[in-house]
Amino acid sequence: MTTLFISDLHLDENTPHITSIFLEFLKNQALYAEALYILGDFFEFWVGDDDPSAFATTIKQALYEVTQQGLPIYFLHGNRDFLLKKHFFRATGCKLLPEETIINLYGIPTLLMHGDTLCIEDLAYMKARKYVRNPLVQMLFLLKSLKKRQAIVAGYRNASKAHTQMASDTIMDVTQSEVERIMLKHNIQHLIHGHTHRQAEHHFKLKHLPATRTVLGAWHEKGNVLVCHPNGSQEFVDLY
Ligand code: MN
Repeated sequence: MTTLFISDLHLDENTPHITSIFLEFLKNQALYAEALYILGDFFEFWVGDDDPSAFATTIKQALYEVTQQGLPIYFLHGNRDFLLKKHFFRATGCKLLPEETIINLYGIPTLLMHGDTLCIEDLAYMKARKYVRNPLVQMLFLLKSLKKRQAIVAGYRNASKAHTQMASDTIMDVTQSEVERIMLKHNIQHLIHGHTHRQAEHHFKLKHLPATRTVLGAWHEKGNVLVCHPNGSQEFVDLY
């Protein structure tokens, strides 16, 4: 048995190739795993659970089929799909986890996060995040028509693209002191997150003990999954 972790697929109807890699992965490797964790930015953007597009429907149906066949699928919100709400989870059988979740990964207490809150030097983003995560702001947004919401999000996405191109590499990465603060807060030596798209396994010392930060990669040209084994070993596997 294995436990699988993916994030930052950025599924979008304009990149059908990535969607098919995901659908194949779900029916094949994932189905035989013990659990699948999706650590945010599963969708490139999500404007509300009432999206009736064929794209959204296909993905919801595929998730539903595998959860019904017994695969537990857990989600964390990313900074692009935090409007995935109860209708989506009800329709797919997936479970939403709190933004800082600790699991027992084959005996190793492991903290799961999307990772955006670790990039504390990106002040403009942190400010925008506080606004869009406000429940009242979300409620008012979701009251608008689907078309209006899509137009607003398209504007945000352009602004975010421009911001990412302007901001330095350091600002767009996690801040090590924040990583350590969060890990100490939860008394944890292993963290898995996505968001930065910088797939890696970082080793350092925390409280004089070995600590690991595993960063999941994004699905741009290919897919990739972190496979964790019961003996405590882990590996990244590419999906084509
Ligand atoms: Mn992200």
